Amino acid sequence: MTQSEVLFERAQHTIPGGVNSPVRAFKSVGGTPIFIERADGPYIFDVDGKRYIDYIGSWGPMLLGHNHPEIRQAVINAAEHGLSFGAPCPAEVDMAELVSKLVPSMEMVRMVSSGTEATMSAIRLARGYTGRNTILKFEGCYHGHADSLLVKAGSGALTLGVPNSPGVPDDFAKYTLTAEFNNLAQLESIFAEKGDDIACIIVEPVAGNMNCIPPVPGFLQGLRELCDRYGSVLIFDEVMTGFRVALGGAQQVYGVTPDITTLGKIIGGGMPVGAFGGKRDIMLHIAPTGPVYQAGTLSGNPLAMAAGLAALNAISQPGVYEALTAKTTQLIEGLQQAANRHGIPVTTNQVGGMFGLFFSSEQHITNYQQATQCDIEAFKRFFHLMLAEGVYLAPSAYEAGFISLAHTEQDLADTLAAADRSFKALAT
Ligand code: PLP
Repeated sequence: MTQSEVLFERAQHTIPGGVNSPVRAFKSVGGTPIFIERADGPYIFDVDGKRYIDYIGSWGPMLLGHNHPEIRQAVINAAEHGLSFGAPCPAEVDMAELVSKLVPSMEMVRMVSSGTEATMSAIRLARGYTGRNTILKFEGCYHGHADSLLVKAGSGALTLGVPNSPGVPDDFAKYTLTAEFNNLAQLESIFAEKGDDIACIIVEPVAGNMNCIPPVPGFLQGLRELCDRYGSVLIFDEVMTGFRVALGGAQQVYGVTPDITTLGKIIGGGMPVGAFGGKRDIMLHIAPTGPVYQAGTLSGNPLAMAAGLAALNAISQPGVYEALTAKTTQLIEGLQQAANRHGIPVTTNQVGGMFGLFFSSEQHITNYQQATQCDIEAFKRFFHLMLAEGVYLAPSAYEAGFISLAHTEQDLADTLAAADRSFKALAT
């Protein structure tokens, strides 16, 4: 037995499914999850001493690579002064100012401890601000696990086949309308019927929880126009895309300004951090300036702020996104070529440092329907072949992939050589 197998066996006695977040259990791909001992740069090392080139990056935060020296040092320095104060600290002010500068639509910012908290709070704020109950989300988009948002959800909910979770009362779920991502015509007719009751649209501007699906031209602009027409709040959930597809997020890439933005992952540099922010007059509805309640014992935690500030300062340097995008392009073009060489039908998507690999013969994947019709069996085999080769991909066909700035030319070459052998094995 490997050490990972021993630990997984042990873990299942006291942790449901042996994991603290469902996709980690490898349930949809089979086999035993690898338990990680340490991570450095583009690599993770399991408890059996095997090294993997990592394309999950802790599900997004590790844009600079693991164990980045500046982030690590910032956390160590902050820890010298205490771990949590439960009172305001200077780093929170620095953080709010920096976020506001990098994402100018976020005129005011509130820090929280996870992406889930950010989206949950943003929804409550939109409801409180508009005095409306209904919200609209897109099929296959994942916005964390708050009740209202676990309706036709992506990510682990989709991977495990429970997009509508038991435990969410129908009385809550009835206030969540769902529409097809990239289908503006359908949205027009929903708004024509119910627009005056819709508090907000929440959208992943690049969907990253049903693999990676960019918006078609005009889609995000269409959402903006509908929200303006009906007085609804437009929420961009940039927990994944924020600081990943560009320094200013997807809103910078597509030139569409939301009313509220939610952030997570990269903003914490690997620590548990989320944030939501937006127009001043909306944000002032939050307690204590307004009546919409929101709070957190560890919100704005000094260690988390130190890590986040170090990460954001490092990624604000010139050339970061050019390098990240170029590495991602090199990877997905190489994967596509390797698949082509062996006659495996594959198609890819990319926005900045975020990519998707679909086992499909379709030219373009633009919605949930297409994403869920991909060849899942082929993906599973590919996943395990790559894992055996020392390449760690997301253990689900419905997750976007992430590269880091620490991935070297050699790492990419090794990954593509492994992919070539894996596609070859798939073809035989
Ligand atoms: N929103 C999006 C777009 C996400 O991808 C995620 C997590 O993957 C979340 C929200 C929830 O964030 P967290 O897992 O930090 O609660």
